[in-house]
Amino acid sequence: MLKTKVVTVEKIINVCTCDRCGRVMEQDADDWEYQEKFSIATRVGYASVFGDGNLVEGDFCQICIQKTLGKWLKVTEDAPPGFNKKLSSMFDKIMQPYQRHLENERKLKNQTKDI
Ligand SMILES: [Zn+2]
Repeated sequence: MLKTKVVTVEKIINVCTCDRCGRVMEQDADDWEYQEKFSIATRVGYASVFGDGNLVEGDFCQICIQKTLGKWLKVTEDAPPGFNKKLSSMFDKIMQPYQRHLENERKLKNQTKDI
């Protein structure tokens, strides 16, 4: 006999609270606020207004970012021309020699596929 059974499942989800307004953003929520959050983490340098070498961190909802920084942010529909090429050259500079070799092999394979 085949029948159904109701079970209760516990699930672990990520939850982030905005450090400015206290909005709780849950990963599985339908409002997509969790996916649109801004998380900042940076180690500041010498003579920083935050103190020499301190770690500066914060999690913020998109509404707080828009309210506090919105008028100064550059918001575009897509990356400006050449942006992806610029990123690519940055990756080339930080790759180790063996990583560059693997990347070149990958590019060659992709080029031969196109022929
Ligand atoms: Zn907020």
